[in-house]
Amino acid sequence: MFNNKKSVFDKINDFLVKKNHELVMSIYLANYNGNNIYIRLDYVPKLSVYKVVWVDLNFLNVKHIEDYINIQMMTKYISNKIIEKLSTFECESGFKLNEDIIGDRVEILTYFNGNKEYVFDRFLPLEWEGLIDPLALIFSYLPRGMEVFLNEIFGKFDGTEESYNCIKPVKFNLLKGDSTKIFRPLSIEKGTDIFDKNKVSFLEKVDNRYLAIVEDRIPYLVVIEEVDKEHVLMWCNCKANYFCKHIYAVLLAIREKKFNNFYKVKFLGKDETLLDKVTLRNFYFSFGIRNGKLYLLTPDGVILPISPVQNGKLLFEVIEDDDDCNLSSALNEFKLK
Ligand SMILES: [Zn+2]
Repeated sequence: MFNNKKSVFDKINDFLVKKNHELVMSIYLANYNGNNIYIRLDYVPKLSVYKVVWVDLNFLNVKHIEDYINIQMMTKYISNKIIEKLSTFECESGFKLNEDIIGDRVEILTYFNGNKEYVFDRFLPLEWEGLIDPLALIFSYLPRGMEVFLNEIFGKFDGTEESYNCIKPVKFNLLKGDSTKIFRPLSIEKGTDIFDKNKVSFLEKVDNRYLAIVEDRIPYLVVIEEVDKEHVLMWCNCKANYFCKHIYAVLLAIREKKFNNFYKVKFLGKDETLLDKVTLRNFYFSFGIRNGKLYLLTPDGVILPISPVQNGKLLFEVIEDDDDCNLSSALNEFKLK
C-alpha cells in the first residue's frame, strides 16, 4: 500500500524516542533469507546506558508496537567496546551491491561521528572489516537463532560464501550461461563424465522446475528451478556445499534436451498414514524399483523408497510408464513373488 503515512521505521523511532532512546546504530536485514529484521543500538542518556532493540518486521503490528519491540540492556563493558570500535572505523558511506543477489540486503546506519550508511548484499565486504566487532557484540544480545544471519554476513571472512550462494537463486542463463563462472573445474569434469555415460536417468520439466535423477554411487535427486528470467535455483540432495557434478550433469542434459519422463504411479492403498507425507497430489513421480523398493519423489524433493506390495496386493497403479512398460512388468513380477 502506497501512502504518505510515516514509515514503520519512523513509528518505531517515535515509540523509542518517548522512552528517551537515542539511535546510535541500526542494522536492517531486508528480505534476508526472507526475514525483515530491524536492530538498533540505542543510548538512553537518562540512565547512561546502551540498549539493544530488535523488531521482527514480518510479524510487527504497528498498532501495538510495544508488544513487538524487544529491548535488552547492554553491559557498560560491551557498550564501551562497541563505541570504541565504531569510533575507529572511519570508512566513508558506501553501497556495495551485487546484482546477482536477490534479497539478502543489509543496511547499516551509524550516527556516530556524523551519519554514515553502509549497504551491502548478503556478505559484509572485506574492506568493512571494522564492522565485524560491533556487529558481533550487538548480535550477542539477540536471540541465538539470529546467529545464522551473522554467520552468513561474515561469509567473505570465513570463506563460506560458496556454501551460502549455492543454496540460493543465482544469476545464470540455464541454456547459454557460462558455467565456468559458477561451477568448479572438477564438478565440470566429473559432471561431463556422468552425462556422457548416460547416468542422468530421468529428467522432466514440471512448470518452471526440472527434476532429475542422477545415477552415481546412489541415485541423487537434482532440482533446477527457473526463479525468473535471469535467476535459477539449483539443488542436489548429495549435500555438497557448492554446485556439484550432479547438477552439472543435469545442466548438460537440459541443454542437450535429453529428457526422460519419470514414471507416475497412483497410490491404491487405504492406509493414508503410510503416505500422508506425500499426499499433496494423487499421483507420485517414481524412478522405478531398486532393491525391492519402489522409489518415489515427494513434492518437497525427498526420495522415498517404499514397499510396493502389502499382503500380496499391489499398493500402486502405474499411470505413466515408459515405452517398454518396464515399471508395470516389474511391479507384476513383484506381486508374483
Ligand atoms: Zn550432487
